[in-house]
Amino acid sequence: MQDPTGPRNRGILSRRRTLVGLGAAMMLAPGVAGAQQAAGSGFSVGGFSGRARVGGTALMRSNDGRLLLDLPLTQPVPWRLRHMADPPRVALDFRQVDWTGFALQGRASPLLGDWRTGTLGDGWTRLVLELTRPMLARGAGMTVDPGSGRAMVALRLEAASATALAAQIAQEGAEDGATGEATARRAPLGHRPAVVVLDPGHGGIDPGAVQGRLTEAALMLTFSRELAEVLRRRDGFQVVVTRDDDSFVSLEARLRIARQARADLFLSLHADSLPDGNAHGATVYTLAEEASNAASARLAERHDRADLLGGGVDLRQHDDAMAQVLMAIARTETQPRTDRLARALVDGISGAGLRMHRRPWQQADFTVLRAADIPSALLEVGFMSSPRDLERLQDADWRGQMALALADSLQGWMASEIGQASLRRR
Ligand SMILES: [Zn+2]
Repeated sequence: MQDPTGPRNRGILSRRRTLVGLGAAMMLAPGVAGAQQAAGSGFSVGGFSGRARVGGTALMRSNDGRLLLDLPLTQPVPWRLRHMADPPRVALDFRQVDWTGFALQGRASPLLGDWRTGTLGDGWTRLVLELTRPMLARGAGMTVDPGSGRAMVALRLEAASATALAAQIAQEGAEDGATGEATARRAPLGHRPAVVVLDPGHGGIDPGAVQGRLTEAALMLTFSRELAEVLRRRDGFQVVVTRDDDSFVSLEARLRIARQARADLFLSLHADSLPDGNAHGATVYTLAEEASNAASARLAERHDRADLLGGGVDLRQHDDAMAQVLMAIARTETQPRTDRLARALVDGISGAGLRMHRRPWQQADFTVLRAADIPSALLEVGFMSSPRDLERLQDADWRGQMALALADSLQGWMASEIGQASLRRR
């Protein structure tokens, strides 16, 4: 509760406390035991120079049983929200925010208890708002001023039942387990197998391209199984597939599988038909807001439409401006790795003497490639609309050569990633 003699008189809601060295495992625990223990200890800001800071007045208001927080930041950063119980509280985690000098302003509310900031490790820091009763975030978003590049986090907390809070915490716990927490540590590439997620396109009620009795879904399932077999026979790969039968898997579910598997790379396998019929040869696609040409744009659009058909969720419906900013940030980190992946695929396929499209690496806004934190590529192994490609796609020998070329590509990419990672550690 408020300390009536404390800094509240200066308009600061509560005493600033720090929590330091909260381990990665602990941050997932519903009770942040370290918070009390570490209260009052020093907070090192070493290594945070040049990172985002609180850029203005962080204002907490209460209104009609709600708590409203406006938190200005000097720049947008990845962030997330967590609910906790005993006592009820909300944690706002930010990547690389320096809380030095931070103070929460506003009139005291009986809904708000203590608050504190601290570091979680791996560049994540946390703002904890302790609440005097169970509340749930009913609105939370980050907006960015395109002119100044500054960001504003707005949070709205509303009263909820203890049961609703417990359900929310359970759901967040499940999501953490599913997404592979950003803070969870694991051995770097090279000290463990690389997790390759193969994603045979389409399936179930969505056959993809169709030529006579052949479907893209079936051809890609066959090829995915063959490629998985080649990879599993090599050292250093762990293969996960998004489907291993003729069932419909939404684009969102495909991404979820990749996240659950903590994929090091995601490779979606397709053999679409293009209406103009001229496209032929293997083509690597990576994600871009702007497609490299109209055909790529149409291809991406068709895949997303097929997903809606199957009742899948188009991720873009969830995208507000904020999500896009976050994805852009995450992609900035992933982009060089994705580019190296695309290049390795093109080099590997063409190096094996297999036919590629005259523009072997193209870009389009494929929903299935929107796992911003996982290097992802979509490979049109060939185009079913091209008679020669269609023949090759049905030729087990040709597919064997393609699978070998891809395995070589992925092995080369993995080696380069291990090299890059050791460079970064130096
Ligand atoms: Zn397709």
